[in-house]
Amino acid sequence: MKVYFEEIVFSTSKRFQLVDITHRVEEIVRRSGVRNGICLVFAPHATAAIIANEHESGLMEDILTKIKELVEPGRGWKHNIIDDNAHAHIGSALIGADRVFPVRDGSLIRGTWQNIFLVELDGPRSRRVVIVEVMGE
Ligand code: ZN
Repeated sequence: MKVYFEEIVFSTSKRFQLVDITHRVEEIVRRSGVRNGICLVFAPHATAAIIANEHESGLMEDILTKIKELVEPGRGWKHNIIDDNAHAHIGSALIGADRVFPVRDGSLIRGTWQNIFLVELDGPRSRRVVIVEVMGE
């Protein structure tokens, strides 16, 4: 079995933001040479998340609006006493920092309306990393 790693590194510009990394992940799958297997997309961050959904500007705003409602940035969370970003940790914990996709015939399998996004919950950040691990044969 082959195991191939790459990192995607970028900055974010807003407190809440969706960053579309679909094409970069697909390029890594191609470079990996893996024909059939799985692709892990993992953000090594406690204040960001990974989702797969539609790249439509209205929906992207809707998703961020709903996330803000769920994580309540203005609430008096205990963690905010030491670090004013409890909402971002909660969002990362609820949504999850990873997604796994099938790889078949050398291509990542995803739905037509499933682009891959990093969800920035505590930006702007000068450095966000997404680890892409492709495993298979
Ligand atoms: Zn914190």
